[in-house]
Amino acid sequence: MNDKEVSRIFKRYGNLPITNALLAVIKNHDDEKLLEHVMYAIEENARRLLELVTHGHKVTDILHKFYEANEEITDYPPSTIQCRKGCAFCCHINVTISQAEAELIQEYCNEHGMKIDWQRFKDQRKLTEQTHASSEYKKCAFLKDNQCSVYEVRPFNCRNYFVITPAFLCDADKFPKGTVGTYVNVEKEVLHSAFILMLNKLGLPYEQDSMARTFLNLKKIKDNEKQ
Ligand code: SF4
Repeated sequence: MNDKEVSRIFKRYGNLPITNALLAVIKNHDDEKLLEHVMYAIEENARRLLELVTHGHKVTDILHKFYEANEEITDYPPSTIQCRKGCAFCCHINVTISQAEAELIQEYCNEHGMKIDWQRFKDQRKLTEQTHASSEYKKCAFLKDNQCSVYEVRPFNCRNYFVITPAFLCDADKFPKGTVGTYVNVEKEVLHSAFILMLNKLGLPYEQDSMARTFLNLKKIKDNEKQ
């Protein structure tokens, strides 16, 4: 499906904001009916989420429930996926998140008495997609003893990143330009996209930026609120 056809269908659906992974799948797909089905599913999920918000749930509470729903989708072929416990190469790449996801992690850290490594975020602030892999500061601020210290509330892009090429290729020190093949689970990406759409409909920040910049912006907002 070419860019023109994709943008025609997107326009029909009010230019829904969707994840980059889902956009890539859509562009590679040549099935208009499937694309329409995906768009419909995103809207339906977002509509149900909005109802939850209007019933008084906090966005971070909904996000928590949403992560649980995301984990219940397991009908993908696990044998092709190389990701294993203790392998943390992908915790050294540039992970992007929304403000709501950062808020949930911050709440989790506060509840569990965990200190956030703000200095690491400051060191990472100016890194880009291109410069991240070769930076001495590339390690995620939440990676402790090679394990995710906020695993329960890790962002969508950490949850839904599945490598299908041999794991050694994930080593950014040896392969900084990235030669990794990933598997995209459409159902999970639909859920993530619905969450982005819900934020958008609520007028909340829905854009994703690097974890460092998102956390530092959130800190600035919270500090200003205190004044
Ligand atoms: S949040 Fe956790 S899973 Fe995601 S990059 Fe950081 S340490 Fe890894």
